[in-house]
Amino acid sequence: MAIESIRLYNTLTRKKEVFKPIRKDRVGLYTCGPTVYNFAHIGNLRTYIFEDILRRTLEYAKYDVRHVMNITDVGHLTSDADTGEDKLEKEAAHEGKTVWDIARFYTDAFTSDIARLNIKKAKNLVPATRTIENQIALIHELFKKKYAYETTQAVYFHVPKFKRYTRLSRQKLNEKIIGAREKVITDPEKKHPADFVLWFKSVGKFKNHVMRWPSPWSEGFPGWHIECSAISTKYLGQPFDIHTGGIDHINVHHTNEIAQSEAAFEKPLAKYWMHGEFLLIDAAKMAKSEKNFITLNTVIQKGFNPLAFRYLVLTAHYRSKLNFTWKSLESASHSLEKLYEFIRELKTKKGSGVKKSDMRMHSVVEKEFRMSVFSDLDTAGALVNIWDLVRAYHKNPEAYNPKTILDILYDFDKILGLGFKNVKSETIPAPILKLAMLREQYRKNKKWEEADKMRQELQKHGYTVEDTPEGPRVKRV
Ligand code: AMP
Ligand code: ZN
Repeated sequence: MAIESIRLYNTLTRKKEVFKPIRKDRVGLYTCGPTVYNFAHIGNLRTYIFEDILRRTLEYAKYDVRHVMNITDVGHLTSDADTGEDKLEKEAAHEGKTVWDIARFYTDAFTSDIARLNIKKAKNLVPATRTIENQIALIHELFKKKYAYETTQAVYFHVPKFKRYTRLSRQKLNEKIIGAREKVITDPEKKHPADFVLWFKSVGKFKNHVMRWPSPWSEGFPGWHIECSAISTKYLGQPFDIHTGGIDHINVHHTNEIAQSEAAFEKPLAKYWMHGEFLLIDAAKMAKSEKNFITLNTVIQKGFNPLAFRYLVLTAHYRSKLNFTWKSLESASHSLEKLYEFIRELKTKKGSGVKKSDMRMHSVVEKEFRMSVFSDLDTAGALVNIWDLVRAYHKNPEAYNPKTILDILYDFDKILGLGFKNVKSETIPAPILKLAMLREQYRKNKKWEEADKMRQELQKHGYTVEDTPEGPRVKRV
């Protein structure tokens, strides 16, 4: 049973709304997946982290989340407006591999990236090329309802016939609706410039397109948007609860998905639409086409824990831009290490049963944390709640049971995914412990000079000793 209300910003209404699932206790969540022609950059990964926080928050609230994500392995052209080359076929030629190899390689790279970031994998991770039949059936439906038409080159969705086309984007149809990057209209038979491709025929520039399937409209391959309409409906039905992606999807991809699905089945596609803001670099959007992108491998090669990047993403609200700098990553890494250190400290202490003050604190802290995440996924606020807890503990450690604090942190980490449970208590080598014990003996005997020498010796080996009410504690500097 879900208990509290979660408020989420719905792009469709431009308002924060109380989340009410269509079916009691169950949530259908569709998140647009990667185009697998290259490594994901950390901007893409920011969007997947936001979606992961959303999923985990819903699960924390006891909803049974059915999460579906597509893998775009065909049909996404170098321009979102149906012009240019197929991204995968272009990369295959560039790398001298088959297009299937490219798809497999970068799909694996994607799943390994998300695993390293503690992003939960969708229950159904569905490549577009596995649902061609469903996509053809959907296009067929659009023909029946007279939303689709055929030219020598392709099958199109006729936009002016779908009256609610700009409901999500709130743009004017004669404004920039077909994607900022479109430069040329390549098909003279196209009825309206906003019409978008449902099916590319293997003719003209696509004569040698490797990925191709038979269809009622000649051999070819699907347009980019139809896969998401077909996959979401197949796995989640229509309407389903929440559909997400990066903000660049609002004007083209999601607008087109809505048009296809709602025209075909005459009911809404999804109830809530949520969009993550961009990760910037030097104040510009990080994008594969701009060559300004950083991958997770680079982050790791530079010596960072991938979860430091996750921490950095959580410091900003998902609807705010976040400018990436190596300095900001360093500072996130430092904060995360401090939290890990705090967890190690708690682990070394023995709990002494739950105290009354503990119980009170537990419910207050938990309430604040839930208030943060349940109010449109305020992860920055949630981190502040955690640091408040760390400070409260350090101010008066006697008042708390370390075990309770640990349990609270583990509980919060079900949403934050910062790997708190995997923090190993550091094993201090025996010779180091011996030095620390010697120092303690000297101290007890008031031999301050010798005790100091031991401290210096420890420092030489990269350790320091802290005198706590429970006795000395050795830790790494
Ligand atoms: P793609 O693989 O290009 O289809 O993009 C995958 C996801 O990343 C989509 O949801 C995009 O909206 C999102 N995205 C692309 N660039 C950025 C960026 N710089 N910051 C955040 N998300 C992005
Ligand atoms: Zn999509």
